[in-house]
Amino acid sequence: MRKPSRDDIVKITLEESEIPRQWYNIVADMPNKPEPYRNPATGELLEPEDMKAIFPDALIAQEVSTERFIEIPDEVREIYKQWRPSPLYRARNLEKLLGTPARIYYKYEGNNATGSHKLNSALAQAYYNKKAGIKRLSTETGAGQWGSALSMACNHFGLECTVYMVKVSYQQKPYRRSFMETFGAKVHASPTNLTQSGRRILEEDPGSTGSLGIAISEAVEDAATHDDTNYSLGSVLNHVCLHQTVIGQEAKAQLEKVDEYPDVVIACCGGGSNFAGIAFPFLHDKLTKGTKVRAVAVEPAACPTLTKGVFAYDFGDTAKMAPIVKMYTLGHDFVPEGIHAGGLRYHGASAIVSQLYDDGIIEAVAYGQKSVFDAAVMFARAEGIIPAPESSHAIRAAIDEAVRAKEAGEEKVILFNLSGHGYFDMAAYDYYFSGNMKDIEYSAEEVEKSMARLPKVK
Ligand SMILES: *Cc1c(COP(=O)(O)O)cnc(C)c1O
Repeated sequence: MRKPSRDDIVKITLEESEIPRQWYNIVADMPNKPEPYRNPATGELLEPEDMKAIFPDALIAQEVSTERFIEIPDEVREIYKQWRPSPLYRARNLEKLLGTPARIYYKYEGNNATGSHKLNSALAQAYYNKKAGIKRLSTETGAGQWGSALSMACNHFGLECTVYMVKVSYQQKPYRRSFMETFGAKVHASPTNLTQSGRRILEEDPGSTGSLGIAISEAVEDAATHDDTNYSLGSVLNHVCLHQTVIGQEAKAQLEKVDEYPDVVIACCGGGSNFAGIAFPFLHDKLTKGTKVRAVAVEPAACPTLTKGVFAYDFGDTAKMAPIVKMYTLGHDFVPEGIHAGGLRYHGASAIVSQLYDDGIIEAVAYGQKSVFDAAVMFARAEGIIPAPESSHAIRAAIDEAVRAKEAGEEKVILFNLSGHGYFDMAAYDYYFSGNMKDIEYSAEEVEKSMARLPKVK
């Protein structure tokens, strides 16, 4: 059989046996390592011991690991087989529509029941917690994708699951709640009156529609106050970025099959995990072999953490219970406007992604939501997949790269991560079609106020 040529292939698949056997830990290759976390109560260095109240030992070890490769447990790899290796597509119809000489590839992570990449980490986290004898996991969810993923993972490993769902999403996306309940999770609209952190917010603002920062506080408090319960986070932390690297490792193997290597790798960036997932295995080449590859993180103009935030120590949550992290941040009590890409409304970003950005190893851009939905609809009509509003940020950036390649008459290989589908987000599409969608900018004034409340760390 002739080797498939990149010009007559639409979907590049791999065998089950080609699912990666290890996760890639970029920390091993970083010229400047991410700064260690600090204790939120004292500002002193956070000892691994301090995390024991909410995380199992195995995940704490991964969080601080400098090993380059970490074995994926067989039990986790077995369930990955349900939908991995995920397909890599060549976006030939989109290329034609744009009339670009660029070749556009996308890795599709929406091909599991939960509809996003988050299941890659949820299963790993549920597995390590189960092995540590934990009975229940508590977590937050913004748009609902992480809660869906963790519900499914907990169900698989026989754990209970409590989800604090940001109230505005709870109201906007009722079927995400139904999804989580199908897998046996208990879902609360946050802020709740079940935790001290929630009650404090409700006293000040009874109409609060919540934020990720608040929901995290509630979930952390729940875990910290129950012995049999741990906390689980869907992004930001080093171990979450680590678990997502199956995406980029597979994409690399898939591109190799058609003799391609990307000039630019693009992903949307909320906390940074799907960006890490697709980009880090390519950055490994850049950091160890000097390979020229650009990596671009794409964020919403309403929550422009990398492009408009500061690189500073800040709390991971509103109630100051989560560790202090040196990261790009808009301030732990900054509440971004309610945009439709709920999964990108976090005030901070992964410490690793932040350090790479500060060192000029990766790039970042921000887009308003109208131009993002323009790109989403164009993509859907060309490629036949309705993308998640979050992922559509990456599509916008990929289209703009392809248009620039056309203007420059350049052949260019563009790879982006389609982190999830948008089939639970049709209300957002309705809103876009109504013509009322507005580009929401962040409030520089609010960010400045929030900056004044950054923790003091020596
Ligand atoms: C949660 C989510 C994101 C944002 O989270 P990251 O950690 O930045 O990847 C992006 N896309 C989808 C589909 C999501 O569910």
